[in-house]
Amino acid sequence: PHQFIELLPFANHLLPLPSLQAVGSDGVRISMESALTARDRVGVQDFVLLENHTSEAAFIENLRKRFKENLIYTYIGSVLVSVNPYKDLEIYTKNHMERYRGVNFYEVSPHVYAVSDNSYRSMRTEHKDQCILISGESGAGKTEASKKILQYYAVTCPASDQVETVKDRLLQSNPVLEAFGNAKTLRNDNSSRFGKYMDIQFDFKGAPVGGHILNYLLEKSRVVHQNHGERNFHIFYQLIEGGEEDLLRRLGLERNPQQYQYLVKVGDTRASLYGWVWNGTRQKSCNRGNCPKVSSINDRSDWKVVRKALSVIGFSEDEVEELLNIIASVLHLGNIQYGGEDSGNAYITTDTQIKYLARLKSPLNLEQASSARDALSKAVYGRTFTWLVNKINVSLTYKNASVIGLLDIYGFEVFQHNSFEQFCINYCNEKLQQLFIELTLKSEQDEYEAEGITWEPVQYFNNKIICDLVEEKFKGIISILDEECLRPGDASDITFLEKLENTVGGHAHLTTHKLADGKTRKVMGREEFRLLHYAGEVNYNVNGFLDKNNDLLFRNLKEVMCMSDNKILTQCFDRAELKDSKRPETAATQFKTSLAKLMEILMSKEPSYVRCIKPNDAKQAGRFDDVLIRHQVKYLGLMENLRVRRAGFAYRRHYETFLQRYKSLCPETWPSWQGKLADGVSTLVKHLGYKPEEYKLGRSKIFIRFPKTLFATEDALETR
Ligand code: ADP
Ligand code: MG
Repeated sequence: PHQFIELLPFANHLLPLPSLQAVGSDGVRISMESALTARDRVGVQDFVLLENHTSEAAFIENLRKRFKENLIYTYIGSVLVSVNPYKDLEIYTKNHMERYRGVNFYEVSPHVYAVSDNSYRSMRTEHKDQCILISGESGAGKTEASKKILQYYAVTCPASDQVETVKDRLLQSNPVLEAFGNAKTLRNDNSSRFGKYMDIQFDFKGAPVGGHILNYLLEKSRVVHQNHGERNFHIFYQLIEGGEEDLLRRLGLERNPQQYQYLVKVGDTRASLYGWVWNGTRQKSCNRGNCPKVSSINDRSDWKVVRKALSVIGFSEDEVEELLNIIASVLHLGNIQYGGEDSGNAYITTDTQIKYLARLKSPLNLEQASSARDALSKAVYGRTFTWLVNKINVSLTYKNASVIGLLDIYGFEVFQHNSFEQFCINYCNEKLQQLFIELTLKSEQDEYEAEGITWEPVQYFNNKIICDLVEEKFKGIISILDEECLRPGDASDITFLEKLENTVGGHAHLTTHKLADGKTRKVMGREEFRLLHYAGEVNYNVNGFLDKNNDLLFRNLKEVMCMSDNKILTQCFDRAELKDSKRPETAATQFKTSLAKLMEILMSKEPSYVRCIKPNDAKQAGRFDDVLIRHQVKYLGLMENLRVRRAGFAYRRHYETFLQRYKSLCPETWPSWQGKLADGVSTLVKHLGYKPEEYKLGRSKIFIRFPKTLFATEDALETR
């Protein structure tokens, strides 16, 4: 009857339970005896309690046991590890929400609701802003987790009438941002192609009253080019499939995605290469390069959801029309074809919707003309996306509130071929790891200090050295890249690589194919540099680094955009930008600046972590792929995480709680202890035969070094 059994008492740091009990997934408490036999079957609910905590094999075994029992959540201390089940589990009902509401973290089985509730309560009782950092690779379940958290607050937090609109807007911002910012990729049919940080604001009563979204690094290149088996952003297909007849007529669109170059262009071979690397077999879900129809996606019904969401958020009919006009224009732009003149200059051969481009009089050759067109499409789409985020923010704005921030951002990425995008994404993950190290170690240290226990230094790898290598002024990789981008003349991706060699070639975390003695390293390509990240080595191919970092748009194209009748476009392309003779910041520097701001935001808050793992590459339920999972355990730094958490004491508990629970094991503390709590605990553990090196007594808590000490005590209680 109790299919998913959790052993609560073993990790119950906080609350005394009246008697030894465990709880099934249905919330019914069951006898400890049946729970004990289950310990072997379902593993431990906190990795901290693993006997052999340094063994990666034991870690993965515990994860597997739980996964097989549909227990997708496990803790490392207060960090939640989540494995994507790829099926709907009955664990997100209103009943479940109620079960986690106001309950201490360790009293119920691990759940994303427990993390949500814990953050909420800390915010309410300690008046400290919170943030929940969700990480993991594409398809691991980050976005789903962030939606679950948002829903939890929407359902369980107090509300008043005017708050309902804000709640709705918070919830409805998701389908809108997903339509414009998500796409089908090989990894995930609904992959977020941007990083997102969202503040949920709560008033003094604890009701959600507003929000604010920051977006990071939208993958604009997807607008003009997608890999084999992948799609452009959802909105294009939604509009074409779901748009009403007269709307499509006004926009000059046909109800056939195959008509549009940007939706059918076949990807390059590299794409299928990394499809191959990740999937073991080359995915052939589509016959043509791209796949307008995906079985898991219903563009037509999604269109309805998005249209409704737009009006909930407060878009007027006119604004929606202007927004869709832009989307349609991007498709039309993509269909502009060029022919070559004898002089070598390109001319436009198509005559639809070329009002903008007609003004492009610079003599360009065919390749330049196409890339100017694509740059325009990317700029228009990218800026419209940012405009959309701002528009949502305006509809959510509320100031002076307590805040819980949700960060849903791309995890560490390693492909066969890694480019500028992976470089930025992995740099972002280095920064987050840095934050994690600082905050985790700091909170451990703070607790030891508060309890008056000597802090024992923890050996760990501090990745600050890698962050510096990337972002340091003058001699960091980004600085060097910017320098090459600004340098007139013969600057190229290769001169950038050479400069890297000359400036930071000797760095312990960077290698190129050149060796100090002038010979070359065979294993690396001539166009590559290798970074030794905290999570492992990654080779980056410098091809395209300068262009992507420059992210330039011809000035006259900008001018044309400023002159547009479309109100959204005129907000996206500001005239002031034209007057400004200063070069716009490069993409990498912009990203670096926005990351620094993000770190500041996160630093000022109390963090919780959700680490998401993808169990297999086939998007299938019930499949646990060891190799893939080991990979992620490594890249997420989970073993390191566990090591830090376990470096000192595996387990800690308030004196009162501890005494209440185990007092029956010692005649002097039973039925009650009259003296100081600390003395009672001391008497009790001496009676139990704890050796001095097994525990320490702090100001208000007992610290137990090994799980086995605690397990023995639990067993004594059971066999008493
Ligand atoms: P990510 O944001 O990490 O790339 P998503 O959150 O979009 O990944 O998850 C990818 C897919 O996996 C979802 O579309 C959904 O089908 C499935 N999934 C993720 N988390 C869960 C969950 N907790 N329960 C059921 N299915 C899930
Ligand atoms: Mg996502």
